[in-house]
Amino acid sequence: MTHNGLLQTEELYKYILETSVYPREHESLKEIRALTATHERSFMGTSPDSAQMMEMLLEITGAKKTLEIGVYTGYSLLLTALTIPDDGKIVAIDLSREYYEIGRPTIKKAGVEHKIDFIESQALPALDKLLEDPNNEGSFDFVFVDADKINYLKYHERVMKLVKINGIIVYDNTLWYGSVAKPEDSVPEFLKEGRISALHFNKALAADPRVKIAMAPLGDGNTICRRLY
Ligand code: SAM
Ligand code: CA
Repeated sequence: MTHNGLLQTEELYKYILETSVYPREHESLKEIRALTATHERSFMGTSPDSAQMMEMLLEITGAKKTLEIGVYTGYSLLLTALTIPDDGKIVAIDLSREYYEIGRPTIKKAGVEHKIDFIESQALPALDKLLEDPNNEGSFDFVFVDADKINYLKYHERVMKLVKINGIIVYDNTLWYGSVAKPEDSVPEFLKEGRISALHFNKALAADPRVKIAMAPLGDGNTICRRLY
């Protein structure tokens, strides 16, 4: 046994995807992944192994009302829409409708668009607006946060009011390309800001008694939280 973590090689990640993830991936999700592959910002798409874990969480918790912050072309959104019941609802926030439109025809074709309420907006004002309606307070079963990392703590404060007690929040990219465990001077410039955000955020979450947390080193790192009170 070594202490280097489980995923020591690219080959191992490829093995996991090819053995356990891709064979179970819904055809429409494959389609969105293919559509996104040639996009200039394709690196933003949710990792299919993270998505597979979220599918499991959505199923186990019987999630019906969910929130997504950061939609891009809609991989995680479609996954959620395919998993929750037919009368389930997803509030999905992104400042770019243009990105969402790339995946929307596939979502429509999959017959799940009616579950989605897409809000084109900066996330913070959109969350504040949701909080103006008392019916939204403590009402969401599941939340996926995958937008600008610098605002994660601000999202956390709002999401904690929106998610119900025992509800689940998944934060994406909390290991930020592994940079969180590297000395600052060895990290490429373009990762530095995100690294600082992730370091602050991970520390703050670990010290937040309102949530139980589990760090899953899938994709680029997923921190799973359960609201305790
Ligand atoms: N979950 C998506 C998926 O499955 O492909 C990936 C989301 S991508 C990593 C991040 C998204 O957050 C982008 O589409 C971007 O437009 C959006 N975003 C960034 N900053 C934002 C903000 N302040 N408010 C709302 N959306 C934001
Ligand atoms: Ca992400």
